[in-house]
Amino acid sequence: MVTLRRAQGLTQEDAWRIAASVADPEVPVLTIEDLGVLRALEVSGERVRVEITPTYSGCPAMDTIRDDLVLALTAAGWADVDVRLVLSPAWTTDWMSDAGKRKLEEYGIAPPSGRAALGSSNGPIRLAISVRCPRCGSLDTREVSRFGSTSCKALFECRACLEPFDHFKVH
Ligand SMILES: [Zn+2]
Repeated sequence: MVTLRRAQGLTQEDAWRIAASVADPEVPVLTIEDLGVLRALEVSGERVRVEITPTYSGCPAMDTIRDDLVLALTAAGWADVDVRLVLSPAWTTDWMSDAGKRKLEEYGIAPPSGRAALGSSNGPIRLAISVRCPRCGSLDTREVSRFGSTSCKALFECRACLEPFDHFKVH
């Protein structure tokens, strides 16, 4: 097949670039690389093995991401695309790139702030840092609901401009 020959000229870096361009279905301005969901990729001949870690367990977006990865890499010529879900170590917002956080804010979602440092026994320690309003930049904001448009996000309200916005929760 012609498509198989095409993949042979492509390198692991090419495969990574193709995989890294797959968008997050929930926040389409972010790629899975921005999110830190794309963990590993290995090319061997006509085979590509990709490892992704869901942002939270049972994230429905993972099925879409898996399909998109298979489509993109198959279109580039790899005959055998194996996408694996790696659940450990669990994804944290620390894996989100700075570029990803910037894009998230431009999109109108306050990016995760602080670090989800691992505690000794009580799980992640959440550092309470003021969430900045993505619209006016004010730090005078408050959480309205633990759950925004998706379970990854909390609904906030800005006391300065009175606009509600989503905050990508640190976890
Ligand atoms: Zn505001």
